[in-house]
Amino acid sequence: MEDCLFCRIAAGEIPSRKAYEDETVLAFYDISPAAPVHILVIPKKHIQSVNNLTEQDGELLGHMFEIVARLAREAGIADDGYRVVTNIGQAAGQSVPHLHLHLLGGRDMTWPPG
Ligand code: 5GP
Ligand code: ZN
Repeated sequence: MEDCLFCRIAAGEIPSRKAYEDETVLAFYDISPAAPVHILVIPKKHIQSVNNLTEQDGELLGHMFEIVARLAREAGIADDGYRVVTNIGQAAGQSVPHLHLHLLGGRDMTWPPG
């Protein structure tokens, strides 16, 4: 999608610090980290949010979570624990309308989230 920030990052039109990339998925470091490890995992194809997922996206989603687990292992936070967050819409504070998984770790998390 032309005017989508994360589509433009996925296309390489806007630079990012990449953590992982393949044909369908890109992972890159959040520009404003909320934890010592803060990586965003996105599908390269435009999906606005969880609200827009279909049955056909199952394989893609499984792949995204597998990348999350791999990156957590590589960052050395898999055993201590970490959090995966995806914000959906205005009430959750989604600021970029392109599906993304936040991988957050490297510190103790609080619950409930704000
Ligand atoms: P949301 O608020 O939609 O759940 O998460 C969007 C995330 O994208 C935020 O954590 C924000 O810091 C990050 N972000 C916004 N613009 C950019 C950018 O241009 N580059 C990178 N690397 N992260 C961004
Ligand atoms: Zn997009």
